[in-house]
Amino acid sequence: MKETPYLSRGGIVLNMQKMNRVLEEKEEDFQVIVEPGVVYTELNKKFSKKGLFFPPDPGAPATIGGMVANNASGIQTLKYGATKDYVMKLEVVLPTGEMIHSGSNAVKTSSGYDLCRLFTGSEGTLGVITGITLRLAPLPQYFTAVLVNFNSVEEATESIYEIISTGIVPAALEFLDKNVIKAINTYKSCELKEKPTLFMEFHGTNQAGLNEELSLIEEICTSNGSSLYEAGIGKKERNRLWEARYATFEAMKHANKGMEIIIIDTAVPLSKYSRMVEFARNEAASKGVRGYLFGHAGSGNLHMGLIKNPNDKAQAKLGMDVNDAIVNCAIDFGGTATGEHGVGIGKRKFMMHEHGNSLEIMKKIKSAMDPNGIMNPGKIFL
Ligand SMILES: Cc1cc2nc3c(=O)[nH]c(=O)nc-3n(C[C@H](O)[C@H](O)[C@H](O)COP(=O)(O)OP(=O)(O)OC[C@H]3O[C@@H](n4cnc5c(N)ncnc54)[C@H](O)[C@@H]3O)c2cc1C
Repeated sequence: MKETPYLSRGGIVLNMQKMNRVLEEKEEDFQVIVEPGVVYTELNKKFSKKGLFFPPDPGAPATIGGMVANNASGIQTLKYGATKDYVMKLEVVLPTGEMIHSGSNAVKTSSGYDLCRLFTGSEGTLGVITGITLRLAPLPQYFTAVLVNFNSVEEATESIYEIISTGIVPAALEFLDKNVIKAINTYKSCELKEKPTLFMEFHGTNQAGLNEELSLIEEICTSNGSSLYEAGIGKKERNRLWEARYATFEAMKHANKGMEIIIIDTAVPLSKYSRMVEFARNEAASKGVRGYLFGHAGSGNLHMGLIKNPNDKAQAKLGMDVNDAIVNCAIDFGGTATGEHGVGIGKRKFMMHEHGNSLEIMKKIKSAMDPNGIMNPGKIFL
């Protein structure tokens, strides 16, 4: 992404952009070996001709190295999983300068500690990833998108739980509150109804199967009081909807010029999703902080954009108080402070609450592998 790396303790920045080669296409095994600077959208463009794709999709043009280091995921994680589910092998340069190779080309292995999983999501704190073998998935043959409006947030969030309970696994199930829809309408010149909304997508191997799934989804949404159910959305309109969804952050910025946005990235067990949304709304409303709720709801991921005025210390503090209360509530619900964005600096303060004494084990791993603390100092741990 185009953000400037934040060096909390000085140091040097490694720019991996030029390590952007696809080293080997192993499509007979549905695998590919890439350098870390390959952008995932470019990889998918290349493999679409071969009927394959790398499903995790954080939206912005992220690099595979950044996605592995963050264990990125996105709208299709519900059906296809996160980056960690696609990493088969890694080449990593350790802080000592030694290069190691971990993982296997076999789809399953029970051999020793899973170092690929350790490096995936380590946010650059354990080593520099220089080569990645990824698993690819076959592109879906048939897909269809659905847009549903509800009169209340509760109706929308209850529907999410019921949809997942059927055993149908949508490729995407996104929740957007009316504030988000309003911001998107203005920013992207859309004419979506400004109501609590679910965007869904379903993938299948034949149209008849998809139609069957859709009729069950419609039944659930109608019984929960949906005011609009639009199914069978064509490719062009579907792409426009997802483009609008991905513009949420920019749309919030556009609607709140001069303000800062605190982005919450909690995820909770699905049975707690409705209560989590309710808590977040009430918390922001009770403190008078403007909030925008959205997220990959089918995976229990809830984002909230909280508007913070950098020129008003008291209001900015209120914004942070709301953030902290919501994140702590998610952890109390058995969830996490970060479903996909990573800990970085901002979420370090929640690590003890979330991990308890296993945080000490993480710190020991960090100091065993990076005794001088040279890799991304100040990230993940306070
Ligand atoms: C508006 C917005 C929306 C976002 N939406 C999503 C989303 O939907 N899903 C999601 O998962 N994330 C999301 N993110 C977070 C982030 O963009 C992604 O996780 C993405 O994968 C980061 O990729 P990048 O190439 O930009 O990595 P960078 O930002 O460059 O790096 C990310 C981290 O990985 C480390 N790193 C990068 N390359 C390597 C390497 N080769 N070896 C070791 N460490 C490395 C960096 O040090 C850094 O800590 C969002 C961010 C923003 C700003």
